[in-house]
Amino acid sequence: MKIEKIELNLLESPIKMKRSQGVGTIQASIKRVVLRIRTDQGIDGVGEAQAWEVFSGTNENVFHAIDVFLRPVLIGRDPRDIPARMQECDRALVANPEAKAAVEMALFDICGKLAQVPLHVLIGGKFRDTIPFSFSIANPDIHADIELAKQMLAEGHRIFKVKTGFAAPAEDLKRLSLLREHLGDAFDLRIDYNQGLLPYEALRQLRQVEPFNPTFIEQPVPRDAIATMAQLCAALDTPIMADESVFSPAEALRTVQERAADIISIKLMKSGGILKAMKVNAIAETAGLPCYGGTLWEGGIALAAASHFIAASPNVSLGCEFYMPKYVFLEDVLAQMTPVAAGHVHVPTGPGIGVEVDWKAVEKQRIAFAG
Ligand code: MG
Repeated sequence: MKIEKIELNLLESPIKMKRSQGVGTIQASIKRVVLRIRTDQGIDGVGEAQAWEVFSGTNENVFHAIDVFLRPVLIGRDPRDIPARMQECDRALVANPEAKAAVEMALFDICGKLAQVPLHVLIGGKFRDTIPFSFSIANPDIHADIELAKQMLAEGHRIFKVKTGFAAPAEDLKRLSLLREHLGDAFDLRIDYNQGLLPYEALRQLRQVEPFNPTFIEQPVPRDAIATMAQLCAALDTPIMADESVFSPAEALRTVQERAADIISIKLMKSGGILKAMKVNAIAETAGLPCYGGTLWEGGIALAAASHFIAASPNVSLGCEFYMPKYVFLEDVLAQMTPVAAGHVHVPTGPGIGVEVDWKAVEKQRIAFAG
């Protein structure tokens, strides 16, 4: 079996709501890359990448990275030998985890379709059918988010993650207290600073948010402030989650060695795909740290792929934030959305990633193509 063709689409997808996220603000639209790998046996695989410029890089870069640097090492090769293909991608191009995640996703999709089994069967089999779903409260208008959260609570959602650190500390405390006041204690509150605090002020700020009883506090300080992360883990009762501090398995190992997190957030866009995400998870699990399924701004294809990884990984036990297609995009690119019901994402059961792409929707959102 051989890879014959790689079709790349850079999309600009309109969104419904403004998001303030600590290090950056999102409004009007989100760019992402959707690719299709075609083989000589008529089986296609799809993949998706999303990069956020203040987090990891740009979507234009992802598009260019695959088009110019990864395409030549993939064309004519066997898509079933995924570790070999990914090692060649790593040798051809340093970093660029989002581009590599999208390529690997499409290779897994091809293998799953070939074997007629869902992706999770290829990576060890399923531990769970559904994943608890976390929605991020990040609208600068907190009252709009409270109304949405009330509606979601009525539908069975229980996990809300509040984005803090982009407003003055007093404003953050006011938002947290409004949430507890309006939504009560019947929900699981998580707090994400997206690196928003300076190391010298972090401990004092976080002591003030602990009384709101968050399940965890995510990435309070810049990604390289490992000593401060360790200090916060030791000083606070609330578990600290590393997000931006851990992209690669090597960073997961450093975090464990430095005791710089109690939980690790895994994103395929950070690790560079499922195989490396499994390594991050193995390191965390061995050290006794549970994991969480995070996202950047990717849509249904990438989230479905990630849900297979979580389904097959018992230690990724703190849920996922796979809410973009249903709650943020005006329109995704799937013929049928991955079901979200009663506060849970349902793991796809079809062969491969288990999604059907609506190529007309891709064309509608497309701003660049290479094939
Ligand atoms: Mg985060």
